[in-house]
This record gives sequence, C-alpha cells and structure tokens, in this order.
Amino acid sequence: MIRKSNSTVTVNHRLLLKNLATFSRFLDPETRIMAVVKSDGYGHGAVEIAQTLDAKVQAFAVNAIQEGIELRENGIAKPILVFEVPQQKMVSQYRVHNLTATISSREHFEWVPNGTSYHLNFDTGMGRLGFLPSQAEEIAQMVREYSELFCTGIYSHFATAHEPGFPLVSEQHDIFRKIQSHFPEELTAHIANTGGTAFYDTSRFNMVRLGIGLYGYAPGDITIEGLAPILRWHSFIAQTKRIKAGASVSYGAEWQAPADGYLGILPVGYEDGLKRGLSGRQFGVHIGGNTYKVVGTITMNYCMVYLGQDYYEPGTEVELLYKGNDAYEWARKLDTIPYEILTGIDKQIPREHLQYG
Ligand SMILES: *Cc1c(COP(=O)(O)O)cnc(C)c1O
Repeated sequence: MIRKSNSTVTVNHRLLLKNLATFSRFLDPETRIMAVVKSDGYGHGAVEIAQTLDAKVQAFAVNAIQEGIELRENGIAKPILVFEVPQQKMVSQYRVHNLTATISSREHFEWVPNGTSYHLNFDTGMGRLGFLPSQAEEIAQMVREYSELFCTGIYSHFATAHEPGFPLVSEQHDIFRKIQSHFPEELTAHIANTGGTAFYDTSRFNMVRLGIGLYGYAPGDITIEGLAPILRWHSFIAQTKRIKAGASVSYGAEWQAPADGYLGILPVGYEDGLKRGLSGRQFGVHIGGNTYKVVGTITMNYCMVYLGQDYYEPGTEVELLYKGNDAYEWARKLDTIPYEILTGIDKQIPREHLQYG
C-alpha cells in the first residue's frame, strides 16, 4: 500500500485501555466483550488496536473476511466474528483461519464448507442482514441438520441505541430473548453495541459488541462519562506566502483576504479525508497554540489557512483533528457522525501508535 507523507495520525493506546475500562461499570464481571475493529479499527489501525486489546477482551469482530485474515496473520488468536455475508470465493478461508462466519439467510448453510464455525444473525428491527424472528424455530432445526457446521452463537443488532429513550431497543431486546429460547442455552448471545451497553438497562446476554466507545466517542449526541478520543491527525505547513487584501483563494474565488497578511498552504485535501464540505464552515486548525480558519474551497490535495499577521515557517506542525476540534466537531459541521469522519481518514496516511501517550 502507498504510504503518504503529507500527514500523520497518532493513536493513543493508553486512552484506548482507559476507554475499555470505562465500560466495566455497565457490565457484570462475567459479561464478555467483543471488540469491533471493522474498517481497519474505525480508521485507527485494526492490527495494533487488536494487539493492545487482546489480553482484555474475549473476542473481535470485523466486517470483511480479509480483515479477519489480517488479524490472524498478525498473531491475534482470540475468536474473530466476520459480519459480512459469506462470499463464494472466500468461503474456504473461514476454516483455514479459524474465523467465525455469520449465517443470516438459509442459503448460507449450503455456501460454507463443513467444519466452519458460525454465529446466526437475526434481524429484530434493524432492517439489515439477518433472519426474521418468525424463522427461529425453522433455523434451529437447520442448525441441527447441518451438523458438520458449528453454531457457536446468535446475535442481533440495535437500530436506535445511539441515545437513551427509544422504545424500539427494548422491543428488539424482547424479540431477541424469545429467539434465544429456541436455541441451546450455552450458545453465546449478543445484541448490545456501544449505545445499548451504555444507555439501556436491557440484558447484556453474555457478550456485548463495543465499537465506537473504545475509540473514545459516544454513538450519538449524549456523552458517555469517562471516554476520550484516542486519535489525533496532524500535518504541517507546506508553504507560507504573503497575501494582499482583496486577493482571492482557491477554486471559485469565493474567499478574499480581509487584509494584507500571510497564507499557509497545507498539503491535505478531500482525498485524504479533509472533507470538501468543511469549506466555508468556520473550520479551524491549530498552529503554534492558535486557531486559524481554513479559507476558500478545500481542494483534492491542498487547503489554505489565513494566518493574518502571524508568520510560520514551512514545516511547522498543524493539528487538523485534536482535542477541541475532534470528530464530534467535524461531524457537526458536516451534518454526519464521528464514525464517518474517523473511517474517512485515508488509510494510506501512516498511523503512529503511542503506547503511553
Ligand atoms: C458496527 C457494529 C457494531 C459496533 O457498533 P458501535 O456503535 O460502534 O458500538 C456492533 N455490531 C454490529 C453488527 C456492527 O455492525
């Protein structure tokens, strides 16, 4: 993979462990934790995140099977659940790498080869993958018939647990409880994501799946006490130049300098995940302890910062995503959620992992 040198993402593993520990107040000591590290660990680096969490969680989850293989090739030995629908070309790899498949439709029993372990996925209200609750009886029968496959768990997914107070969460919970009664008690059962774990009193069953919370964010607008973002993104000034009052900057010439001053050009653009939609949104970056506005349209590989009377040497560090301008702040300006910001930072940008940061 091409490695960019225009910026760096740093990931704080001390805070990662602190975030994990924050969830213990919501869990019985015997509740197991599955750490969700899909999309390269929400953009943080799945392998390194998993290596740090390996001794503290009981399982991992990824979306694509290739992500599971990458974890195995890097020494992760804990159970790994793959969320995606089994893909024809890859089905033999579940057994080869001891990955747990997801079976969410009848035909999948035929698709995966004998010897494959799997969890069943039920759609209790998410409206995405999964069997319907009414199929529970029939699927329990299929589990018995396909005795050369190994069913080790059942799960479902909440649609509205990102904030407290949604009745759909307890409805889904109760439906899942009924589904569970059709299956052997020893099967691992899990439904709660970060929000379900932090905001609802529903049963945790015997496992929870934590994603966004581990990375230090709450899933919606309600904060979870004790969490701290673990990712920081920084770049540098590529060039500093004088700009005259009234001179325009970038495509569309939509911004003009209010006074003679300096303009900083940063080598980061929308291709890197600095979303073009942040243009003209009072989006600030941090340079030498001060905040400066990104001005003009953000381009593919560059954006510009108006420095006023302040001069900085080329090479000066610029913080793009940091405490005070974190993914919540970005998401608000872009009308999206921190998940999309974090996973949108180009994976070619190097991740620097700080164990004691
Ligand atoms: C992404 C995902 C999770 C984790 O959700 P968070 O809100 O990040 O905790 C759990 N389960 C499934 C099926 C998912 O797709």
